[in-house]
Amino acid sequence: MRRVLAVGAHPDDIELGCGATLLAHSAAGDAVTMLVMTGGENGPGDDTAVVGRRAEQERAARTLGAGLLWGGLRDCTLTPDAATVAVVERALAETAADVVYVHAPDDSHQDHRATAAAALSAARRLSRVLHYQSPSTLTFSPTTFVDVTAYLSGKLAALGAHASQVEMSAMVEPDAVVASARHWGAQARIGYAEAFAPTRMVLDLAPAPRHAVQAVPEAHRLIPTFR
Ligand SMILES: [Zn+2]
Repeated sequence: MRRVLAVGAHPDDIELGCGATLLAHSAAGDAVTMLVMTGGENGPGDDTAVVGRRAEQERAARTLGAGLLWGGLRDCTLTPDAATVAVVERALAETAADVVYVHAPDDSHQDHRATAAAALSAARRLSRVLHYQSPSTLTFSPTTFVDVTAYLSGKLAALGAHASQVEMSAMVEPDAVVASARHWGAQARIGYAEAFAPTRMVLDLAPAPRHAVQAVPEAHRLIPTFR
């Protein structure tokens, strides 16, 4: 069983970047935890919407079969300082994570950049650290892909839990999510994919458990269903 920690600066960042991959981890029996660094105080909607955004995030985490941790930091003020690194370190210690997903470092949003940098410091001893794409990511050259053909509708359901963002932000468009997944899928020669740029990714070549071997043909049968 893998122990996965997905880190995002704001509510809905993780779902957009790697929500379907987290669903695949959950389906594989892995322990999945989300760490959301801020409450999204400066996102679309007024300040009183923060309570609502927290409830949305909790609903989305349940949809993904994931636990949820809050970093307790203030939206738009993140810096990759010792306090921010410590927030990620505490989450890593609490979850004993061996796989980390986090923002790509090159991003126009300062909170995303700071979260990526803090996570890289906190996860300096881990062998699997992968960066996901956000709508504000700049340079992004993914080389690692996850087949999410079976989990794309679940990702959309998790994003749907963030109603305040889906309705008020052009950054969260279901059409764009599906198109992006198909684009990365074509790059990876599969159906729909989420894409990752790893800082480190150690392949596990241990023999697959018998049930996993048997599951492969079924998974492949799902691929021709994409349109
Ligand atoms: Zn964000």
